[in-house]
Amino acid sequence: MVDLKKLQKDIYQNKVDKGFNVTDINEEFCLTYGEVAEAFEAWRKKKDDLGEELADVAIYLLGLSEILGIDLEDEIQKKVYKNSKREYKTVDGVNTRVKEFDVNQDKMQPSVAK
Ligand SMILES: [Mg+2]
Repeated sequence: MVDLKKLQKDIYQNKVDKGFNVTDINEEFCLTYGEVAEAFEAWRKKKDDLGEELADVAIYLLGLSEILGIDLEDEIQKKVYKNSKREYKTVDGVNTRVKEFDVNQDKMQPSVAK
């Protein structure tokens, strides 16, 4: 099992060691988008480096999380749980969320249409 907390710190340290950006948040978001685009292009063109490009996306997300002081492993676990509790039904042919799990109150709430 991957230790995301350690991986996040290792990715950050590699950035520092290699002289990459760890302060410009706008740049990190742009570079993350760039990696998503590279992964899409690899998939679209059936290139053999799709897995590596998806790894780049995860690496940038973990690095950005460390820069921002966010524990991404914890956030992923909380969000996966929240998603598992959401309830959906088909409304006019569209899968629509009808109940949202309120993490703060630990209970379901009606979902507000957006
Ligand atoms: Mg790449």
